[in-house]
Amino acid sequence: MTLDELKFNVDTKGIKVIQTQRGEVDTSNPYSQWNLCHYTGDVAQHVFDSRLELCQLLGIDYDHLIMPRQTHSCRVTAFDEKLVAAPSRIRKLMLDGVDALVTTVPSVCIGVNTADCVPIALADPINGVIAIAHAGWRGTVGHIAEETVKVMEAVGAKASNILATMGVSICQECFEVGDEVVREFEQAGFDISLIMRRNTTTGKAHINLQEANRQVLISADVPAHNITLPNHCSRCESNRYFSARRLGIASGRTFTGIILRN
Ligand SMILES: [Zn+2]
Repeated sequence: MTLDELKFNVDTKGIKVIQTQRGEVDTSNPYSQWNLCHYTGDVAQHVFDSRLELCQLLGIDYDHLIMPRQTHSCRVTAFDEKLVAAPSRIRKLMLDGVDALVTTVPSVCIGVNTADCVPIALADPINGVIAIAHAGWRGTVGHIAEETVKVMEAVGAKASNILATMGVSICQECFEVGDEVVREFEQAGFDISLIMRRNTTTGKAHINLQEANRQVLISADVPAHNITLPNHCSRCESNRYFSARRLGIASGRTFTGIILRN
């Protein structure tokens, strides 16, 4: 398995952010090659094998890899030691319909699965609080990044310490949307001039999801210079990362995870 390491703007010893690459791709198979996501139609054994390999690479127990069943909601769940150790049916319940996770527990990798949506890893290295959020356009409109910061603060983080880095996701050029989507951003209070431009040939709107999430983080008091944007596009590079717009919804997902070391 090939992993990218995502960086914050400052070196954070003891906090690691990783993102999976697809690996050697069989182009006839939209789940090829590494896919950790259990609810987008892939074979369960393949998902299990992918997860096991990641756990071995990270040197963690299988139970210490935690990811939600995402539904484009703005629900954030904090995982303490009790929840990490909870029976699997309780954990499953706690992870259902959740799109961001927060923890202070070391050696636990929390992550989200995305294919074009924006994964956002967050950390307050001073207070030992980490988080991961999945922000598609709905989650972005719903300010999921801000909701995540609030939950981080509730377990001891300080917004002014928080560092954020975004993983591979769809670029503005690739992210054409209908005007009804633009209206949703407008109604949610976004400054459209900062996040939207029109293709001069087609007249279609294109949203910059990463910039929109940067604006949300800044409004949550995360310092602008602490926010790192991605330099890869999932749709432009769909042989390296999964892209729902390129491969269809029935495809694998890129896993982005964050882990606090002891
Ligand atoms: Zn692109």
